[in-house]
Amino acid sequence: MGIKVTKFGGSSLANAEQFKKVISILKADADRRYAVPSAPGKRFSGDDKITDLLYKCHDIATAGKSIEQVFDKIRSRYMHIAQELGLDYSPEEELERICRNIQKGEKRDYVASRGEYLNGIILAQALGWDFIDAADVIFFDENGIFDAEGTNSAVAKCLSEHPYAVIPGFYGRRADGSVKTFSRGGSDITGSIVARAGGAELYENWTDVSGFMVADPRIVVNPAVIRTVSYRELRELSYMGATVLHEDAIFPVSHCGIPINIKNTNHPEDAGTMIVSDKSRDIREGLVTGIAGRKDFTVITLEKDMMNTERGFGRKVLTVFEEYGVSFEHMPTGIDTMSVVASDKELYGKKEEILNALKKSVHPDSVVAEDNLAIIAVVGRGMVRAVGTAGRVFSALSREKINVRMIDQGSSELNIIVGVDNEKFEAAISAIYNEFFN
Ligand code: ADP
Ligand code: ASP
Ligand code: MG
Repeated sequence: MGIKVTKFGGSSLANAEQFKKVISILKADADRRYAVPSAPGKRFSGDDKITDLLYKCHDIATAGKSIEQVFDKIRSRYMHIAQELGLDYSPEEELERICRNIQKGEKRDYVASRGEYLNGIILAQALGWDFIDAADVIFFDENGIFDAEGTNSAVAKCLSEHPYAVIPGFYGRRADGSVKTFSRGGSDITGSIVARAGGAELYENWTDVSGFMVADPRIVVNPAVIRTVSYRELRELSYMGATVLHEDAIFPVSHCGIPINIKNTNHPEDAGTMIVSDKSRDIREGLVTGIAGRKDFTVITLEKDMMNTERGFGRKVLTVFEEYGVSFEHMPTGIDTMSVVASDKELYGKKEEILNALKKSVHPDSVVAEDNLAIIAVVGRGMVRAVGTAGRVFSALSREKINVRMIDQGSSELNIIVGVDNEKFEAAISAIYNEFFN
């Protein structure tokens, strides 16, 4: 049979009990030859994720203070896991080295990556598999851009020398040798890279839910699990806030059509969600696949009479955003109005300057910034062409007296985007969910 690459998220490796579930999943199928672990996540609500503790240590060390108190928590979590698994190996020496390095001022990415690194060593020890340090095979260029092809060759070569191995998620190294991490949740990307390089028949992504649900289970009670979803639909949903899978994780596998199976470590018998190519996905026109969203955006709206006849208007507006290093999410336009939607995080500390620069650059009749906006995407392949879908979204919201502040229909024909007040975010998701799924 073909190779299966498995990635285990933080909750799947939060303590020794969870490790034991992971080990039995791996031992249950000899095709599961490569495992990509995250760092230990929360064991219960309110608990600390190891990655967050590591970032904290880095901040403390940078402020010139002692990390000992916070590092103690990290140390005891790993020591416990190793002891309860009954390993011959002790992570003590590695922990002391890492502690010293953090205190000496090691860089932020190195510090954050140690959560996955240590978990990788422990998991490899527990399984009796080889350990491959991700820093030896996953590469970024001097600007921190991921080197997909260089990485693919290096990982493929390395895997061919190790029939069973653990490769920690989340990080690689830059051309200068320093460690570089992906963005948060990036172990999903590592799993996908390993699946591509290993020519896997399946990439299993093991987490704490039984698949990708039609809406965030923290907002809607017991939403249905999506059985099959295309890579593109999945990317729209995860980019828009469905955090189950990192939004960039589809790229390495989608090029070669390797399916991703989202599975639950606590219920391995559940089928989960299959993420497949557009072609392999059987769709019915008009079907909404899922709903996702995020809070805290600002919409900057420019008005100018006869804007439509002014050549270069849009370009000048976007140049201002580019000059301030702000990437935008949406750009709904009318005949004499143009809006640019960007996250508050992107605009932080720059809003007033951007408004002034826009006034100087395009001389609008008015330009206003309105914050407190949440954006919700209703995603489904072919949905937009189906008559009445948008109408149903708006009626559902108006029935709940939710004002729609912005509308954008994605050019991909995959989604309808609406903007509502932050305070109405959960109610809006529930209203749309009830319209299409109840
Ligand atoms: P891991 O640590 O395994 O990588 P994550 O926390 O990154 O897990 O992702 C799983 C979590 O994503 C779930 O516990 C759930 O709370 C959240 N989530 C958000 N949106 C969805 C959705 N549409 N379907 C399923 N889970 C979702
Ligand atoms: N441990 C990292 C994080 O918390 C990466 C991951 O979990 O995928 O973001
Ligand atoms: Mg995750």
